Formats: sequence, structure tokens, C-alpha cells
Amino acid sequence: PLENTGPQIKKLPQELIDKIAAGEVVQRPSAAVKELIENCLDAGSSEISVGLVQGGLKQLIVEDNGSGIHKDDFPLLCERFATSKINEFNDLQSLVSFGFRGEALASISFVSNLKITSRKPNSDLGYKASFKNGVMLGEEPEAVNCTEGTTVDVQDLFFNYDARRKSLNVNEEKKRVLKLIGQFAMHHAKLRFKFKSDNQIQFSSHSVLGSTELQRREQIMQQITKIADKSFTSCESESTEYQVKFKGTFSNIGATKKYKEITLFINNRLVECESIKKAVERSYQSCYQSIHEEEGGYFCYLSLEMNPKNLDPNVHPTKKEVKFLFEYEIAKEIESWIFENLKNCGVIKQLSANI
Ligand code: ADP
Ligand code: MG
Repeated sequence: PLENTGPQIKKLPQELIDKIAAGEVVQRPSAAVKELIENCLDAGSSEISVGLVQGGLKQLIVEDNGSGIHKDDFPLLCERFATSKINEFNDLQSLVSFGFRGEALASISFVSNLKITSRKPNSDLGYKASFKNGVMLGEEPEAVNCTEGTTVDVQDLFFNYDARRKSLNVNEEKKRVLKLIGQFAMHHAKLRFKFKSDNQIQFSSHSVLGSTELQRREQIMQQITKIADKSFTSCESESTEYQVKFKGTFSNIGATKKYKEITLFINNRLVECESIKKAVERSYQSCYQSIHEEEGGYFCYLSLEMNPKNLDPNVHPTKKEVKFLFEYEIAKEIESWIFENLKNCGVIKQLSANI
């Protein structure tokens, strides 16, 4: 009697498959911004500006001065799994670009009204097209006058995804994007980033004056945190055994109470890694303990450079996690390296109340 009850298995229509996948890649406005900034970086841009209206839900624009998009590539831009960045599976072993899945623009086109304008540096004209559900609207992109580089204009994000849109909060999204841009600015200290929200400038590294990358990074970190001058320590190290180089800028002991933040880049990818986060936390804890200080906060930038063969970037659709060899050993090394450096820098005694 049970034979004919219950739903039957059927294959979902392609559009629904694509929309489900899109919701996973573009979880929220900041996830879209991250993908779009990575595209700007892949295009070799030196200036990247991001603008939000209503936390990116009404509009989200990312503009760069990079290598641009050829007219002939427009029809494929938003096709899922279409990319200019890899050719075969083995390319993942030596990946230098951020993108490789060819999913970001496609995903965005399923959950928004998307317009892309681009001009290659050696071309007199730019081109512009709108996209919907993975396809370009119209026969051909329209020729337009525009500046060199690419502008991606995302409007009405999640207009067709009610549950998602309702779960997002404008201020929270703005905060997340601000944090994200600061993180990219720290790592790519020589590039210029600008972020506007509802037409007000929230962050700009255009006025950062330092000439070396390191000076600029420290200045950017100060600008973000308002932590006092000379309260950061920068250092580098290397483990030949595990083929990894470490580079970091850390707030000194006593420099902040407000922050407990670690920004981690592995092979230039902004990622999260629990074991390394814990290692940094432990080095601060031990340092505070060893000098009998009340526990305080930290604001850290850490960048690891490892043999790409030891790293697998393809473990998460948003690429926010990576897998790598010797994770435990590397975390241990980081812990003692940071501890030593922090200890040698002493304590910043003058704590201002809420920094
Ligand atoms: P992926 O980055 O994984 O290739 P995307 O969907 O993010 O996938 O982008 C698809 C393609 O569009 C890229 O491979 C690239 O050729 C082109 N593209 C996207 N954004 C830009 C940009 N800002 N500048 C130049 N080309 C871009
Ligand atoms: Mg991409």
C-alpha cells in the first residue's frame, strides 16, 4: 500500500539548480564584493573602488582599472563554469589567480540585475551589457565611451530570493564590506582601495603616504583601528622544513582592548583557518601572561607563502578555506615566532580607554 505514496524523485529544472548554487556562492553582499575584488586583482588592477547603496542590497558597484574584458568574451561572462583562468585540472596545482571556478558572475546574474561595462587599455571603445540568469541580454554588447578597466554593477541583489534578502541587515552588510576592504588593503598595501556607502566615503587608502609596502601596511592598519602610532610590530620568518614563509604585522601587547581580529592570507588568498587563529591567540595569551599583564586584545595581519603544491584551494565554493600540508606544525611555528617578536617589543603602557 505504501508503494505509490510520497514524492517521486525528479531532476530539478536547470534554472532552479543554478539559483540554489548561486545562493551558496553569493551568500551575502560582502561575499559578492569579495569575488568581484578578486576579479579586479586577477585583472592586474592598481585601483579598486567599491560602492554600496543600502548595504549592497539596492546596489553594489565594483570598479577597477585592470586589463578589461574583450568584446568577444562578453557573451560567456556569466555562463557558469566559464573562466579564462584555468584550462585543465592540473592547473589547480599551480594556481596563481584567485578565480578558477567561473562561478561568481554567473551566480550573481541569477540573483540580481547585473550590468558589466569594460574597456581594454589598448582599445578606444568600451562595451556594456546586462545579464540575467547566466546569459547576456541582447545580441551584442553595446559600444560605449568609458574609462579603462571594468565596472560591475549589481542591482537589487536577492530580489528573487525573498528569504535571503529578509535575513540580511543593511548595517551589518556595510560593516562586513568595510572590514573586507580593510583586509584587502592591508595585504595589497601598494594598491589603492576606496569604499563608499550611500555616497559617503568609509575608507580610502589613496591618502596613505608611506613609500614601502610595510610602512603603508602599518599606516593602513592604524587608519582602520585608530590604534596609536608605533603600536605595531612587523616581522618576517621562514621555515625551510615546511617550505613556508611568514610575514606579519601585529599590534603590540597593550595596544588595544577593543579588537580581537586576525586577518590571514595564505598564498595571497584571504582565508579562515582555525588552527592558525588559535596559534596567534595563544601567542598573545602567553605573552600577556609572561609579563603579568591583564589580557588585552590584538589586531593582526598575517601572510603565509607556501609551495602551491602543498595547498588545495578547492575545498569551499566561496574559497574561504584552504587545505594545506603540515598545518599543525606550521601553526606551532607561528605561535612561537609571534610570541618571541611580541615579547621583544615590550608593552605599550598607555592604554586609551576604548581603542
Ligand atoms: P573566475 O574568476 O573563476 O574565472 P568569474 O565568474 O569571477 O569566474 O569571472 C568570469 C570571467 O570574467 C573571468 O575568468 C575573467 O575572464 C572575466 N572577468 C571578470 N571580472 C573581470 C574584471 N574585473 N576584469 C577583467 N576580466 C574580468
Ligand atoms: Mg572570479
